[in-house]
Formats: sequence, structure tokens, C-alpha cells
Amino acid sequence: MKMPLLRVLDLRKYFPIKAGLFGKIVGYIKAVDGVTFEVKDGEVLSLVGESGSGKTTIAKNILLLEEPTSGQIIFGESDITKISGRKLKEYRRMVQAVFQNPFLSLDPRMRVNEILSEPLMAHMKLTRKEIEERVTRLLEIIGLDSSFMYKFPHELSGGQAQRIAIARAIALEPKLVILDEPTSALDVSVQAQILNLLSELKEKLGLSYLMITHDLSIVKYISDRTMVIYLGKIMEEGPTEKIFEEPHHPYTQILLSSVPDIYSRKSEKKTIPRGEPPSPVNPPQGCRFHTRCPSAMPLCKEKTPLETQVDEGHLVSCWLYVRK
Ligand code: SF4
Repeated sequence: MKMPLLRVLDLRKYFPIKAGLFGKIVGYIKAVDGVTFEVKDGEVLSLVGESGSGKTTIAKNILLLEEPTSGQIIFGESDITKISGRKLKEYRRMVQAVFQNPFLSLDPRMRVNEILSEPLMAHMKLTRKEIEERVTRLLEIIGLDSSFMYKFPHELSGGQAQRIAIARAIALEPKLVILDEPTSALDVSVQAQILNLLSELKEKLGLSYLMITHDLSIVKYISDRTMVIYLGKIMEEGPTEKIFEEPHHPYTQILLSSVPDIYSRKSEKKTIPRGEPPSPVNPPQGCRFHTRCPSAMPLCKEKTPLETQVDEGHLVSCWLYVRK
């Protein structure tokens, strides 16, 4: 059995809403509201949901770009919200990220060899020659030749720039890479190449990925497990095959039926009710999805559904599956 590499326990991230001259706190945006999951060693876990569901906030908390309001993020043995010094530096080395727009994440004033050398110089005691060798090897691994070494980001295509961002992410031999919509800013033809590269690298380097995306075809292609999130809470999680073949949660069913090419139960066409998801400032009581759910019952408005296991490793938060 694969061991957990990262465990997120009851994570909450609330952003204060301030008003008035003295910035009095008048409420909170509950972007992430009690989320628990783990990423196992060597697996790809996809976190999928509409924009505003809280998936990017979860990634930012794991990357320590934002501080959780409460909860724990355990990597190996350590709660990373409590570590500092050498342990924190090691964590930053072991957990890397690739973001949506490579041109925003690469320094436009630096050449490719400087971009790739920088993390090596900061984290590893290597000679100049060893760094040069590593940079050449990194370019080889991501499928670019050494002529790219002296180019600036503006001289690269979108796909080439994303390859460089991936090379920088793997330079320090991390265990976990967070992929935040890594192909959504790229042309369709290039998206497949980047996904293939990510799959190859995962096998070759023994990486784990946490993929943040709204694109269900990517989820189906790349992930071992899938977690569906709505308004800061997990609605359903399980092996990707099971989620796509037998989605249980009404929200997952609606999400999947909106992409008929990848949904196996094509006869069950369901449409998402009109309107935006409710505001995370004042999320609905009970099940957060009840205001848009075609199967909502009176109980759904009153009580938050309990998480129920419907199959091995397949969990659903919906009253329809709670045995009475
Ligand atoms: Fe729909 Fe009720 Fe299930 Fe929520 S708990 S998804 S409202 S049936």
C-alpha cells in the first residue's frame, strides 16, 4: 500500500472582510472550510471544482504562500505550519509548484540557464561545473536542447516556457509537485505534449502530483484519484476510474455530464441549475450544494451530510447515501 506523503487535516482558510474607517472585521470569506485529504507517495491526486471552490487556496496553503486559519498540513512527520529553519528549507525543496502562466512565473530578466541555476545555488552545495551539468541534463529531460540555455523567457513559445518552469520545479529533486492549471494557458496542441511530459517525469523521477484543475479531461488522463470540491468543502473523492464511471454525488454527476465526451453514462444527461454558486461569505446551511441540487430534500437544508464510504476508497458527502 502506498504511504501518505502529505496529509491535510481539517484545513480552514477564512479571509476577513473589513469595513469602515478602522477596518473593522465584519465577516469572513470561508474559502476552505474543513478539508481533509492525503496525497500518497507516487500518486497523482486531482482537485477539481469550479472557480471559487477553494482549490487554489488549498494549494497556496500547502505551498506556504498563505497561512491556514486552522488545521494541520503534515509532510512526512512534520506539521509544516509549525516548522522553521533547516526543516522549513528542506520542505520548500521537497514541495515545488508549476503554475498556469509560465511567463508570470519566470523572471523576464534572467536567461534560462540562470533561471535553472538559481534554485541549485540556493539549496545545494555544487561547483559551477556541477551546476552547468545539471542545467544541461534538466534541459535534456524536458526535451529542449542546449541552445535554449541562453534564451530569455520572451524568446520562448508558451509550451517551451512551461517546459522551463517544469525543469525549475524538478531541479531540486522534489517529492511532490503542485500543478496549478499547468496547461490552461497553452494551445490545445501543446497541452497534450506538456501532459505527456508530466506523466513521463512522474514515472522517471518517482514524483507525486497534486493537480489543481477545472478541466475534467485532464483529470481523467493523468490522475489516480480525484477529489471534487464545492464552496470550500469536499463533495466526493475516490479512484478516478470510479468517479468517472460511477459518480455518486449530484454535483459530480452534473459536472461530468457537462462534458459528454468523457462521461460514460451518456444517457444520464443532467444540467447544472442556472446561477452562480452561492457566496462563500455566507455559505448555505446544511449541504452547501442544496440551493442548486436537483435531488435536495428538506434534511439537506438543515444538516451537513455525513461522509459515507460507497466503495473502497470512494467517499461521498451526500444524504442520499447515508444509511438510516
Ligand atoms: Fe443534494 Fe442533499 Fe445530497 Fe446535498 S445532501 S447533494 S442537497 S441530495
